[in-house]
Amino acid sequence: KVNRQDFLNSLSEVTPAFGVSEEDLKTCVENGIIKYSPKVDDLLKNGARYVRQVSNSDKSRLISLLFHGPPGSGKTALSASIALQSGFPFVRMISPEEIAGMSEQNKINYIDNTFRDAYKSQLNILVIDNIETLIDWVPIGPRFSNNILQVLKVYLKRKPPKDRKLLIISTTSTYSVLKQMDILSCFDNEIAVPNVQNMEDFFNVLVSTKFGDSEEDRVAVINQLTKVVPEGKLNVGIKKVLTNIETARHDEDPVNELIDLMAQSSSAF
Ligand code: ATP
Ligand code: MG
Repeated sequence: KVNRQDFLNSLSEVTPAFGVSEEDLKTCVENGIIKYSPKVDDLLKNGARYVRQVSNSDKSRLISLLFHGPPGSGKTALSASIALQSGFPFVRMISPEEIAGMSEQNKINYIDNTFRDAYKSQLNILVIDNIETLIDWVPIGPRFSNNILQVLKVYLKRKPPKDRKLLIISTTSTYSVLKQMDILSCFDNEIAVPNVQNMEDFFNVLVSTKFGDSEEDRVAVINQLTKVVPEGKLNVGIKKVLTNIETARHDEDPVNELIDLMAQSSSAF
């Protein structure tokens, strides 16, 4: 006799593809990657080097990386960009949005299926975005799913079958939580993604986004903000910087509005 649960199970079984497709990954880099600091270029080059290592080396069938950094520092966009640049036939992302609301067992099935898919092509990249969310970690409690954690630990270390290569790029904004979960040893390398740190970085973003009517406007923003922000240190994520710029653009007085917004964002730290 087929009951309702069988029916629901069968639905999840026929889902054609697991993980976000390449097309959807592109939306993660919709706003592009601005090379506001030499560090950005280093991150991209570092990523591209791991892509080459996975595809060329017989010894490295599996490489697992962790991109960690403050919220909005650009971890998802950088990971997606590296994945898309690879040209690998299989590029997927497990994102928190997709698995939101699933039961623990469904999440585990989902992870199983995505990895199984990722072992099918010769060259595969899997981005696990906000890995702490996948583990159901919540700061109040604090709580997480130990079952999902154990499954992930196995997959992060499991070598793909012979002649198959897999690069895993995980992201997190809660590095210390992962440390407590004892999962850091599952990664071959940890890569820190910094915030927009100083006026030079910020100025480069202003230039790239063509903020203001002229160079004078941009210099005015920098000069005035330097007076407001202690030691000219910003420490604001690129996501927030770009949002602030967009908001200010639509203000009657973009220059002063941007100074205000940036001062607020940086004092939050
Ligand atoms: P969260 O902590 O919320 O997950 P995040 O660190 O993953 O945030 P993203 O979602 O990647 O940050 O947001 C970064 C945004 O900034 C994207 O829209 C991206 O296109 C844009 N961006 C511009 N320049 C860069 C850069 N150099 N690095 C990363 N992202 C950039
Ligand atoms: Mg992200």
